[in-house]
Amino acid sequence: MKITVVGAGGMGSRFALALHGAGFDVTLVDGWQANIDAIRKDGLQAELNGEHVVAHLPIYSPQEIDQSGVSADLIVAFTKSNQLGGMFEQIRPIIHKDTYVLCLLNGIGHEDVLERFVPKDHLILGITMWTAGMTGPGHVVLNGSGEVELQNFAPAGEPFALDVVTAFEKAGLNPKYSQNVKYSIWRKACVNGTLNSLCALLDCNIGELGKTAQAETFLREIIAEFAAVATHEGLDLDQEEIYQHVAATFTANIAGHYPSMHQDLVVNHRLTEIDFINGAVVRKGEKYGVATPHNALLTQLIHAKEQLIGAK
Ligand code: NAD
Repeated sequence: MKITVVGAGGMGSRFALALHGAGFDVTLVDGWQANIDAIRKDGLQAELNGEHVVAHLPIYSPQEIDQSGVSADLIVAFTKSNQLGGMFEQIRPIIHKDTYVLCLLNGIGHEDVLERFVPKDHLILGITMWTAGMTGPGHVVLNGSGEVELQNFAPAGEPFALDVVTAFEKAGLNPKYSQNVKYSIWRKACVNGTLNSLCALLDCNIGELGKTAQAETFLREIIAEFAAVATHEGLDLDQEEIYQHVAATFTANIAGHYPSMHQDLVVNHRLTEIDFINGAVVRKGEKYGVATPHNALLTQLIHAKEQLIGAK
């Protein structure tokens, strides 16, 4: 299986290293020139659970892809949500009729973007509990372990999705074939839609958010809107279970952690994935006639903060 990882940031690098280590033919595509230059010059460098690892992988910019001769059986998408459509527009030349796309991005509604580039039965969606961080161009820090849950978006995609599970098993990525990945995607989006946006706006970590008197109300109201919209997509989200799942992080060992949206926006002044988290609930709510005032306000506040900070 020829694999192209599109988006060689923290997560793309993690998956590329694992798959390359298991013997797969892996190519990277990235839109950040400094990252491309660093990986070409010194290889992809990772601190993998304290061990320094270097892998020399081919890497192309989207502009180079047309002349690259790259062809992919599987494209693993690991851009940020807000970069996904633009990136796939540029990499059209490597998408042929047998190419499958796996999307493990946080958030909801990525299938609406990807369906413009591949048929539904060539689309595989999922979530991952692996984590990763970039410390600079060509450098990533990869700690701990994780899992992947995935499922074909349309029934005909099942055989290839099962092949991906087998490939990921070989790479030690702990994959699981899911019977209802859509539920898992929405459940995880509820975590991001509460912790990410609130911590970014309040400039606090998860534990600090949990200590505020408003935290429980915020969480419950936001999750209730996710659930009301999800009903129209055939999902019956268990609001109490999801609330307890999110609230458990307030006192867990990740309580001191600043969620990725906080890091992206407040620390690194980057644009956020808000339009595919709370913003997606607002868009879908408008479509189904469901009011989503909390998610709408959060989305607009994050966009306002992006402007004030000059996020790019
Ligand atoms: P990332 O920011 O590390 O990388 C995404 C893209 O942004 C890459 O193309 C990268 O080259 C580029 N980029 C990174 N820093 C940049 C900079 N300073 N300037 C210009 N470009 C830059 O993103 P990620 O953390 O790998 O996340 C990818 C997807 O996976 C997201 O949807 C995220 O929500 C999801 N996810 C992340 C984690 C995690 O622990 N990082 C865990 C689960 C899911």
